[in-house]
Amino acid sequence: MVQRLLLLSGALLGAVAVKCVPARLALSRAKHPGLTGHARVAKRLAGLVPNHEYDGAAFFRADAPPEVIAAQRESGFARLSASFKQREKTLALTAETRVHLADLQFTSRYRVPYPFSRVVREALPVGAFVASSDGPVLHDLDGNALLDLTGSYGVNLFGHEFYKQTIAEGAAAAGELGPVLGQYHPLLADTVARLAALSGMDEVSFHMSGTEAVMQAVRLAQYHTGRARMVRFAGAYHGWWGDVQPGIGNPVPADRTLTLAEMSERTLAVLARRRDIACVLVNPLQALHPNAPAPADSHLVDSARAAVLDQAAYGEWLRALAETCREAGIVLILDEVFTGFRLAKRGAGEYFGVRPDLVTYGKTLGGGLPIGVLCGRAELMRRFNEQRPVDICFARGTFNAHPYVIAAANAFLRRLDSPEIEALYDGMDERWAERARTLNTSLQDAGLPVRVAALTTIWTVTYTRPSRYNWMLQYYLRNEGLALSWVGTGRIIFSLDYDDARFAEVVARFVRAARTMQEDGWWWNSGESNRDIRRSVMRAALRTRLGRN
Ligand code: PMP
Repeated sequence: MVQRLLLLSGALLGAVAVKCVPARLALSRAKHPGLTGHARVAKRLAGLVPNHEYDGAAFFRADAPPEVIAAQRESGFARLSASFKQREKTLALTAETRVHLADLQFTSRYRVPYPFSRVVREALPVGAFVASSDGPVLHDLDGNALLDLTGSYGVNLFGHEFYKQTIAEGAAAAGELGPVLGQYHPLLADTVARLAALSGMDEVSFHMSGTEAVMQAVRLAQYHTGRARMVRFAGAYHGWWGDVQPGIGNPVPADRTLTLAEMSERTLAVLARRRDIACVLVNPLQALHPNAPAPADSHLVDSARAAVLDQAAYGEWLRALAETCREAGIVLILDEVFTGFRLAKRGAGEYFGVRPDLVTYGKTLGGGLPIGVLCGRAELMRRFNEQRPVDICFARGTFNAHPYVIAAANAFLRRLDSPEIEALYDGMDERWAERARTLNTSLQDAGLPVRVAALTTIWTVTYTRPSRYNWMLQYYLRNEGLALSWVGTGRIIFSLDYDDARFAEVVARFVRAARTMQEDGWWWNSGESNRDIRRSVMRAALRTRLGRN
């Protein structure tokens, strides 16, 4: 009897294994081999990394340079520091505010790789305040002018002057009503019609941020498919909501999320086979660096950062993905919060030639005010069940469709059809690719180990020779009056009001900054490969962990 039971359970286990093991293997094979593909492992490793800092002399000697090089670096650093510290009013207010401002404490800590962070924060303080903008020029509290390459996290597509107008126009139009919520300003009707036409979708819903629009897209996909899992791709950002951010940055596991490799046949095979996947989320910005995280300078420990746009290949991938999703009953969500209106008037969908089931927008669409929008086919957007009245998919938000935001978004959408804006879109891709080539040629001609890669107005800086100090470039750029966001050289975002003259200024300043950095010895060639550098960084962390420093 016992024997028979054992045999039976063995057979059952065998049957389960025959069914599950290949599926599990297929899933493993569809993950990107790097840490971006293994969110849990990355998080576990992150928990083990101890703090270690390069202090004093060691700060300039991480790659064991000759003394003459270290001395060049030290004097260059002292010169930069003196120049940075001249911004007295801006820095005083920044220092005073930081004490109580958690946001600023976080961003200023992660501008550069952590072993260098404290010394850099003290010697090269970056002011957090600006008083005014004039086209792409920002003025700090000390009257210093900076050319704005931050793009306001992607919001600034048409230039600050454009958004000053859309906000003023929106405020004037909504002013009679005031901040009345729960009922709509009449401009909402036209806004909805324009969004439906532009996205080619049936219905629209309003939210307060890109993060919330994505949350709602995923929730609706789960509601309509009756499936729980979501697929996102390695490295892709979709806001800071827990389920789209498994691993580092999220204190709890995102158990329903599968992180798979992008541009991978194995991923398509998993999607075609599994029956528990509700939706696939795509951030088309990843076309510039598939499967890699947003290229922040805090990760720039070596020169391995890579970026190359292959528009045709990425478009092909998206179309194959859409086809697979369609066949498997999976909802394809194109997250256009960043790329919407930026890559083309109709966003990445138009640029790469793909049609999703749901599409999210945000950032620039608010005409300078905070917004998130979801557009989709009617059957996916419905939040109730005609046959089961209590079965609903709940989503609300106090400030959704705020009259001022809707009126500013309406001003934005109306301007999209103006001849001036049409002219900006006309030939945009080629114009910005040509500008990237111009900068690259200048850098190459000057013998500098720096290049840029571009997805229209979204640029990332790459480094051609192994080095531990590439992140210093963001400070040399700032010293030449080029403002980058806290992620540094990983993300340069242009607004379309950069004309040829302004762009030539950027090129001149960029090359000057890189040349000064070269002259100050930071790119001295140690002969280390990127791999050597990474290993040595890991060894240093290990030594600290074992208390041998
Ligand atoms: N999705 C994408 C593709 C984004 O780039 C962002 C913001 N960087 C978000 C979602 C989140 O938007 P928000 O910051 O407005 O919540």
